[in-house]
Amino acid sequence: MVEKSVFEMILNKEIESEIIYEDEEIFAINDINPVAPVHILIIPKKKVATMNDLTEEDELLVGKMVIVAKNLAKSRNIDESGYRLLWNTNKDAMQTVFHIHLHLIGGTMLKGI
Ligand code: AMP
Repeated sequence: MVEKSVFEMILNKEIESEIIYEDEEIFAINDINPVAPVHILIIPKKKVATMNDLTEEDELLVGKMVIVAKNLAKSRNIDESGYRLLWNTNKDAMQTVFHIHLHLIGGTMLKGI
């Protein structure tokens, strides 16, 4: 059996976490270890382990994740001040949860990358 990701466990209510946004395909939570005042994870309900596993079928899903992220940025009032959207893939990017997620980070001046 394939091991469940922490995000699937949150979605199945096996781990407690406040779901701050949800639709049929996507949900969002606050990162447990925020690196900025706003640090939200936008997550597809469908488990895709890494960005490398995306296919053309996922085009719409990934696009929707970006739209959800920019709407959340507006709802947190950081759309004008600015924010960063980030996807980590595999070890050099320090991906730790193998269920893709889009980081929405902002609410402060971020260091350059
Ligand atoms: P990444 O390093 O891109 O794989 O990011 C995984 C993120 O998931 C990290 O920023 C963690 O702090 C976050 N995270 C791990 N477990 C939880 C959890 N139970 N609730 C919220 N965020 C989590």
